[in-house]
Amino acid sequence: MKRVLIGVAWPYANGPIHIGQVGGCYLPPDIFRRYNLMKGREVLMVSGSDQHGTPITVQAEKEGVSPREVAEKYHKINSKALEDLGVDFTLFTYTMNETHKKVSQNIFSTLYQKDFVYLDTMETFFCPSCDRYLPDRYVTGDCPRCDASEIKGDQCDECGLLLDPDDLIQPRCMFCGGKPSLKESEHFFLKLSAFQEKLEGYIKDKDHWKSHVLNFTRSWLQEGLRDRPISRDMEWGIPVPVEGYEDKRIYVWFEAVIGYLSTSVKWAEETGGDWEEFWKDPEARHYYFLAKDNIPFHTIIWPAMLMGYDEELNIPYDVPGNQYMRFEGRQFSTSRGLIVSLPDILEKFDTDAIRYYITSIMPELRDSNFSWADFEEKNNTELVGNLGNFIHRVLSFTYSRYGKVTYKGEYDQRDTQAKEIMEDRVNKVGDSIEKCRFKDGMRALLELSREGNRYFNERAPWSEYKEDNERCETTLNVALHMLKAISVIGSPYLPFSMDTLWDYLGMEGSVHDVSWEEALVPPPEGQKLKEPKPLYKNIDIEEMFKEEQVMEKLKRLDLRSGRIQEVEEHPNADRLYVMRVDLGEEERTLVAGLKTDYSKEELKGKNVVVVANLEPAKLRGITSEAMVLAAEDDDKISLVIAEAEPGEQVEGTSKGRSQISFKEFQEYDLQVVMNEEDKLVGKDTFDAVDEPLPDRKTVALVEGGKAKVLRSAGHPLTLHREISKGSEIK
Ligand SMILES: [Zn+2]
Ligand SMILES: [Zn+2]
Repeated sequence: MKRVLIGVAWPYANGPIHIGQVGGCYLPPDIFRRYNLMKGREVLMVSGSDQHGTPITVQAEKEGVSPREVAEKYHKINSKALEDLGVDFTLFTYTMNETHKKVSQNIFSTLYQKDFVYLDTMETFFCPSCDRYLPDRYVTGDCPRCDASEIKGDQCDECGLLLDPDDLIQPRCMFCGGKPSLKESEHFFLKLSAFQEKLEGYIKDKDHWKSHVLNFTRSWLQEGLRDRPISRDMEWGIPVPVEGYEDKRIYVWFEAVIGYLSTSVKWAEETGGDWEEFWKDPEARHYYFLAKDNIPFHTIIWPAMLMGYDEELNIPYDVPGNQYMRFEGRQFSTSRGLIVSLPDILEKFDTDAIRYYITSIMPELRDSNFSWADFEEKNNTELVGNLGNFIHRVLSFTYSRYGKVTYKGEYDQRDTQAKEIMEDRVNKVGDSIEKCRFKDGMRALLELSREGNRYFNERAPWSEYKEDNERCETTLNVALHMLKAISVIGSPYLPFSMDTLWDYLGMEGSVHDVSWEEALVPPPEGQKLKEPKPLYKNIDIEEMFKEEQVMEKLKRLDLRSGRIQEVEEHPNADRLYVMRVDLGEEERTLVAGLKTDYSKEELKGKNVVVVANLEPAKLRGITSEAMVLAAEDDDKISLVIAEAEPGEQVEGTSKGRSQISFKEFQEYDLQVVMNEEDKLVGKDTFDAVDEPLPDRKTVALVEGGKAKVLRSAGHPLTLHREISKGSEIK
């Protein structure tokens, strides 16, 4: 095989990618791509954002924006997240591009001309009270096959069943919850039944497929293929290219799979490459990565479309579809929780730690479960304790004693044994990736570092160093070769840390540019090493969650800087002022008990910090529409000052957040703190949630032993008067 086309399921641009999808279909193709490049093959890896269909319009209605805005927003977010994860597509595009539209309409028309697409009537849901058609996802109901409820109208995510409208149990309109009725409408159908025999022949030699993929496909064929509607009554999407039916849209799943071909064409247009080398040369193999709900689209529908459109085109060689990865025992969902989204988890953990854990629980053959406790355990014992430990002990020992790759010397039996195990594991990792068994490959990599640790312990180079220097050099030479092998065969999995390891070994360039065979070539004797640092670090999930809680709490506040414009005495109270405060876009009236500590002149023009989402309260007849923050110790009060323009949001708080009561605000522990030996000290000593620590007294939100310094426009808030640490903010 000289060329590989890697097709990756198109993520809907209706939300950020979640880590369940990463394990299901985004990380596996990247490992496969990196490996194939090292094997000297040409790789075209294509995908993009699926911007059409009801998932987008449903989300747009939820966010109150246009489908285009939703589609563009999440395309941007997801492209960046995948890039940050190290998933490097040849082209990651989107379905709203002209080439895709052209190719999709062309395939539709060609199949229509060849009678593989035909017009017929069907019953579709129509909501009488909303007076509109309800294409697939605008209807929810219960699955007729499994016990899932609230499923989408086109497919059950739980069991993968594809639905016709009248299959759904207790259908409900997504807008009004009412019972929709069925109404006849004309639609275009893909004549899948015409491909029954051809597809049966196609899967005959697919013994290399995963059993669940093969079984799923077989059972579809055994049931007999049904023709399927491929148009929808809606405005968003690619118009049906048939005269008189331009107001209908091509159904999103029919169109999305075409993306593999259209993106290859687009790539050729943009780079001058030859897409036909990947699509028409029978030597080129096509691999499609996706999760189980997508299997029939890639093993039945897409091959049928290709067969009908142009016999010369390559059809899928392998479809290594994964099962589902669940989250703490539940179904992952884009809408549930924050930290399970790819952008969020990338912000909190090292990329290779994420890649390691997700690979180790990849749902290749059965459903798997992502759990925080398991993440911590696997990271700390396997990645840090086994792999990272072997790498760091060899590097730091050799670097400090010799500073270079030591001499090979004479091998004894133990050395030879270690080398043989290395060779075996290098081959095992390669074979596993070749067969898309990525977990097995990772396991073999870990076996190699486990053997390395064992070898290092048995040899005890720290003793050899004192007793027999030549012997010590040989031990380290063997161990360094193992590190080089690990760097090469580990690089598809852990691309960032393995490239650093490559650099520590003093190797030139990047490990991503070398061939797979380079793993078994020993590093050149005498080559200078670089000073190593540990590649991986321990994770303490509980600690991280405490930080998470502080941030979550802060998010419920709307704190903004405001400039005091006017100060009047309260007509009915001795100790109160009535102030007008400029909050940038608006002004508000505040009533504050500052009279005993501040004169009117002192207050005027001050940049204070205001709780903007506190419930308004009437104080002696005048309504206070917000509250200024001030610190109070035994004998005085000090305003909290922001070095920012009026209206500037305190970082981590949310503008326009829903109101909180005064009682709820009192539950916030805001204190004056200062930095003492890298801890924040207020009433107690706290760990800081983020760096850098402030160089003067400031204000922090305290929660569960953690303190988060409040900042505005990048600067920590300050205090107008000298006031003791630990003072409460009121
Ligand atoms: Zn189901
Ligand atoms: Zn309705």
